Amino acid sequence: MTDLAKDFRAGLQQDAVILPPAVLQDHVSADGTRKWLFDVGNGNAIETVFIPETDRGTLCVSSQAGCTVACPFCSTGRQGFNRNLTTAEIVGQLWWARHELQQPVTNVVMMGMGEPLLNYDQLVPALQLMLDDDAYGLSRRKVTVSTSGVVPMMDRLARDCPVALAVSLHAPTDALRDVLVPLNKKYPLKDLMAAIRRYSAPAPRDFITFEYVMLDAVNDSLEHARALVRLVKTEEISCKFNLIPFNPFPNSGYRKSPWSKVRAFADLLTQEGFVTTIRKTRGDDIDAACGQLAGDIQDRTRITQKLKSVPIVEKGATS
Ligand code: SAH
Ligand code: SF4
Repeated sequence: MTDLAKDFRAGLQQDAVILPPAVLQDHVSADGTRKWLFDVGNGNAIETVFIPETDRGTLCVSSQAGCTVACPFCSTGRQGFNRNLTTAEIVGQLWWARHELQQPVTNVVMMGMGEPLLNYDQLVPALQLMLDDDAYGLSRRKVTVSTSGVVPMMDRLARDCPVALAVSLHAPTDALRDVLVPLNKKYPLKDLMAAIRRYSAPAPRDFITFEYVMLDAVNDSLEHARALVRLVKTEEISCKFNLIPFNPFPNSGYRKSPWSKVRAFADLLTQEGFVTTIRKTRGDDIDAACGQLAGDIQDRTRITQKLKSVPIVEKGATS
């Protein structure tokens, strides 16, 4: 970059490094879903998933290695917390996907491993790059942050970078949500709903999406659906629902709701006037479906072998 001042270039050379993400695995599912496993050091790995559809391509991006929220039905939550990803590691997932894929990434969802709003300081600059016309130029509506409900950070996000928001609700009452999303004990439903109202306040901002994982005999009865309707109507929340079929993993202790119950739950919400979708499960043959991402690397010899074959641009290189 000879158009930059010499001193500045010397500073850059000293302080910065150009390094592509280190890929450990690259899987393609029978349905075209693609999953990469990236090494993030110290035996930790994170996963990124690309979901191709006819009219768009969605990249599911990770924000942390592991997660402290520890939702019991989530494979990431079960593995504990390792560390926050840096801004470079977050945006690097998009960088890599864009270079590898034949089709464009039109949407980004922060629905990979980790709780994005518990890594706020690294997340926001990454989101800003995704939106910046000089970087990835995605529109605000096509970048979604999914949160388990970190109330103070939702307010900050509304001010700093108001992208689309999805909230992992999963239960209509505090008693049940305390178990399914333990962060609820800190930020109970009343506070969460108030934060959502504040986030949606400057109309015509888009509706909030509520994600609701369907767990057999836990949260999937019509009584739960009615309680959900009462909750969002009382709190006057403009929202839509996305029901997620539970993706089982070994020793999860939970079961998938039967399809008839998912259907009945969705029908009740629709009859009550809420736009309700049932998420299609994609890539489950390569463990790329929602909540299956574990980034679990036990065999460290395999990491070392794989890493040797990944081209790394050394510190100070100018490519
Ligand atoms: N931490 C953030 C974003 C990542 S998880 C959050 O919780 O919102 C993305 C979605 O997948 C969340 O709604 C999460 O609750 C859901 N999920 C987690 N484990 C799942 C599983 N085993 N089956 C189906 N959905 C799951
Ligand atoms: Fe963390 Fe989200 Fe998994 Fe809960 S569902 S443990 S918040 S990644």
